[in-house]
Order: sequence, then C-alpha cells, then structure tokens
Amino acid sequence: MELIHIAVIGAKPLLEGIRARIEKSISDQRDKGKSPAMAIMRIGKDPASEFYFRAKLKKGSELGVETRAITMEEDATPQEVQERLDQVVKDPMIHGIIIESPVPHHLDYKKIVNTIPWHKDIDGASYENLGRLMSGMPSLVAATPLAVMEYVSSLEIPQGSTVAVINRTITVGRPLTQLLLNNNYTPIVCHSRTRNIRELCKASDVIVVAAGKPGFLGQEMVSRDSIVIDVGINSVNGKIVGDARIDEIKDLVKAVTPVPGGVGSLTSTLIFSNLIQAMDYQEELK
Ligand code: NAP
Repeated sequence: MELIHIAVIGAKPLLEGIRARIEKSISDQRDKGKSPAMAIMRIGKDPASEFYFRAKLKKGSELGVETRAITMEEDATPQEVQERLDQVVKDPMIHGIIIESPVPHHLDYKKIVNTIPWHKDIDGASYENLGRLMSGMPSLVAATPLAVMEYVSSLEIPQGSTVAVINRTITVGRPLTQLLLNNNYTPIVCHSRTRNIRELCKASDVIVVAAGKPGFLGQEMVSRDSIVIDVGINSVNGKIVGDARIDEIKDLVKAVTPVPGGVGSLTSTLIFSNLIQAMDYQEELK
C-alpha cells in the first residue's frame, strides 16, 4: 500500500486484525487441550495501576481468557510478595504473569519482575527478555513497542527506512530500537541531550515521539513525507493528549496516529498476544 496522505490513523482497523489473530491462536491452543491463563498481580492502591489492572481483566473476559487477579495490601512485605509470586510462577496452569506498576515505594519493582522466568514475563520487563531481544533470541517484548511495530507493519513502511525514536527508556525506546533493528529498519535514537533533533526528525521517514511532553512535536519537526507515531500519554486539564500537536501537523504530514485512540489502545490487547507466544515458548522448553 503506498501512502499518499492519509492524515490521522486510528487504531480501530488494526485492533480488529490483532484481535482476530489472537482469537484464532486461542482457539488453536484450545484444540491442543490448553486453556490460556494469566495472573495479574497488583500491590497497593495506585490509581494508574488500578486503571490498567481493570482494563486487562476486562480485555481477558472479552477474549474468554482466564485472568487471575492477585491483589496484595499496600504494606505487603517483600517476603510476602515473593512468596505469593513464587506460588504463581510454579502454577503450570498460569502461562503469563504481570506485575502492575508502580508498586509501593518500599518494594523494588525490578527485583520482583526479575524473579519471573522469561517465558512467563509477558510484560517483557525482565533483564533476560531485554537481553534476549537484543541478541535476536526468542523473547517476550513490552506491549508499547509492539504496538508501534503493528503500525509500522500495517503501514507497510519499507525496510531500511529511517525511524527517529524520541525516547531511550527501558520500557519504550530501547526495546523499540531493537525491534526496529531486528526488522531491518534504521532507528535514530533521540533523547534530551540530542543536538539537531528538529533536523533529525524532519529528515526521517518515521518519527516515534514518546517524550512525555504535551505539544512537544509540531510543524518545525516534520516534513510532507513524515509518518508520526505518537506514544505520549499526557493529562492536560483532565484531558488525555499525546506529544504531537496533532491539529497543527495533521494536514502537513503523510500520517499521524491520534491520542487517545492510537498506540495506547493496542497495548492491553497485545498483552494477550504475548500470552499465546509465552505458551508456545513453554511448550518448546518442555
Ligand atoms: P520518561 O521516563 O519520562 O522518558 C521520556 C524520554 O523522552 C526520555 O528518554 C527523555 O530523554 C526523552 N525526552 C524528554 N524530553 C525530551 C526532549 N526535550 N528532547 C528529546 N527527548 C526528550 O517517559 P516513559 O515512561 O518512557 O514514557 C514516555 C511517554 O510515553 C509518556 O507520555 C508515557 O505516558 C507514554 N507511554 C505510553 C505508553 C502507551 O502504551 N502508549 C506506554 C508507556 C509510556 P532522557 O533519557 O535524556 O531523559
């Protein structure tokens, strides 16, 4: 598909395709006598974690996948959390585990996540999964970079294209850069110390913006050929907005993804795609 000018590209058509793919995989697993199930562990009462926790439970029930909610009190000790997690890890009926973040301050999220075996870490947050991704080995990858790749693939962006990634964090920019490299794209990683960011973005075929700054990307950073994938999720006066000034650029670029209704709306579904992938890995490891 050659893109001429398609302006704002919402996630709905993509979501339908991803959902159909997952439903088919779930049905294939059932044919093999297996019932996909994940555990979602939530510790404490952080409102953002509550929102994502509920969203995953809802998505699980829509897809007919067992999502086991494990809630622990705000004052749970590291030992209590670890003991509970160890039980879940050992449960052969649970194929994927998610620890909702943030966890209460007295707990160490990274330490907790790194005790989950890589093939059950469906958030792709463990060092083992990140290392595997970097080495091109089988791995589970965080849903946000996967969602960006869904856009890249559905827009049929040619291999070799340059992709400016404005983010270098372990949850977004770094795994995305590896995915892009593994799929023969040419990532240009930008961060707060990058010089000439405007020129780098303007000259790139694709711009993935995840600076976490509302209004960060405007007409000065794009060209007529730009495809802008907006990962930012910011709350401004009670409204969710991305990092791009979408009204300003939507008629100037080839395509731009909206917020809300873009990258973020794919992630809770892609977790289930990871769950199926995890089941396959577990089967191979037997
Ligand atoms: P973060 O930890 O604040 O990281 C922001 C990144 O952007 C850093 O790498 C930072 O560079 C870079 N940056 C900040 N200001 C910049 C500037 N002026 N010029 C160039 N680079 C700049 O945020 P995060 O957790 O990675 O998340 C980023 C955004 O994505 C947030 O809006 C978040 O809500 C959103 N998000 C969305 C999803 C989704 O599913 N759609 C998932 C996760 C996150 P330095 O490294 O130099 O500081």
